[in-house]
Amino acid sequence: MYDAIVVGARCAGSPTAMLLARKGHRVLIVDRASFPSDTVSTHYLHQTALLRLKDWNLLNPVIDAGTPAIRKMHFSFQGIELNGMADAVDGVDAIYCPRRTLLDDILLNGAREAGCEVLENFSVTDLVFSEGRVVGVRGREGRGPERDLRAKVVIGADGFHSTVAKRVGARSYNVRPAANFIYYSYYQGLDWGLHHKTGHNLRWIGTWPTNDDLTMLAVICNRSHLKEFRQDPENQFLATFDDVVPDMGKELRSQGQRMEPFRPMRNPDNYYRTAQGPGWALVGDAGYHKDPFTGWGMADAFLHAEMLAARVHEGLSQERDMDEALADYAATRDEESAPVYDFTCTLAELDLPPFYRTVLGAISQDQKWTNTMLGIIAGVVHGDEIFSPEGLQKLYDEVGVPEDERAYDPGA
Ligand SMILES: Cc1cc2nc3c(=O)[nH]c(=O)nc-3n(C[C@H](O)[C@H](O)[C@H](O)COP(=O)(O)OP(=O)(O)OC[C@H]3O[C@@H](n4cnc5c(N)ncnc54)[C@H](O)[C@@H]3O)c2cc1C
Repeated sequence: MYDAIVVGARCAGSPTAMLLARKGHRVLIVDRASFPSDTVSTHYLHQTALLRLKDWNLLNPVIDAGTPAIRKMHFSFQGIELNGMADAVDGVDAIYCPRRTLLDDILLNGAREAGCEVLENFSVTDLVFSEGRVVGVRGREGRGPERDLRAKVVIGADGFHSTVAKRVGARSYNVRPAANFIYYSYYQGLDWGLHHKTGHNLRWIGTWPTNDDLTMLAVICNRSHLKEFRQDPENQFLATFDDVVPDMGKELRSQGQRMEPFRPMRNPDNYYRTAQGPGWALVGDAGYHKDPFTGWGMADAFLHAEMLAARVHEGLSQERDMDEALADYAATRDEESAPVYDFTCTLAELDLPPFYRTVLGAISQDQKWTNTMLGIIAGVVHGDEIFSPEGLQKLYDEVGVPEDERAYDPGA
């Protein structure tokens, strides 16, 4: 009997398992994949995610693998430019964008080194229930026979199509329809740094340097462009760069060399799922997913792994009733993630509502305010520094926005 079984060994599962094992619990982590292996995801790790890696002693392996440090962001939305960098926090003065083959392997090794047992190539097909509680998982290694593995708590960190969520009947709520699709790949011959730019035609381009001297290039477009895009991905990809930043389109055509196939993805709807019940909990995309536009999926997976592991530890060590501890996790997850969820779903429409146009326009006029905004996006500055009534008034006063042009209500 394990204390905990964690299903899924990537951004949410490995840290949850590692943190529980570091508290002395007997933890099994299973994944149907083997590692190192890739998954469909780009690589932007906000400072808040990097701070979690640093606390867990897992940031140095990312840096030591040659992942380039990025110290300037070029962010723009329909012509409003925010170029700069959030202030350093606790020595983290750069952003890193590691390939998932590298990052996920580092996370799983962290779990292994903490003492977790690991089963790769193990598919969970069902859960084991007793008297209304989840008491284990059923699954098979490769094509082997099904077997049951028992635990005091089962944690589903198994992504959008979570088997754990399906088997417990986790309910979806606060669902917001997906606006977009994404195509991305890896290029040589470009020295562009980090760009995150939204044009005027419901199209976005992103570029960031990653491992092996490659630059990851991505485009996100509104679903209305999907049919034409699928007919000719190569030319549509280039045309999106031409459309958003014509000079980058030219340089991409003349100097960029695509090294890998495109990874396409039609984004699923944004959702929350019930995060816990008797003997089970969900973490990461299994329980909460939003558009990749703001690059907050991994940061939230790390934050919620830490939040969940602390509550499960309280339950396992009988400091607190397990069900009460898990309910606290669910409530805290929903409360703390709400601003990022709303901001992401809004900006992912690729068209700025008037409130954000006014606020971002004011911020773009001043470097100090720009860096503060980049700090909010990075999760290291509280949103109230700008988005409270006092913050907005201070911003408008300092950059000189006339009274009749000021906006205070995001819903207006
Ligand atoms: C195109 C795209 C771009 C993105 N870009 C960014 C970005 O730049 N920055 C960012 O922070 N976030 C980004 N995200 C979001 C981020 O990738 C996810 O939020 C994050 O990967 C979630 O991690 P996870 O561990 O919850 O799930 P996953 O990474 O999906 O891992 C789930 C694991 O569970 C395993 N599994 C599933 N079912 C079973 C089963 N039945 N039995 C055993 N194992 C199972 C899978 O094999 C997998 O390894 C992006 C997402 C997409 C789709």
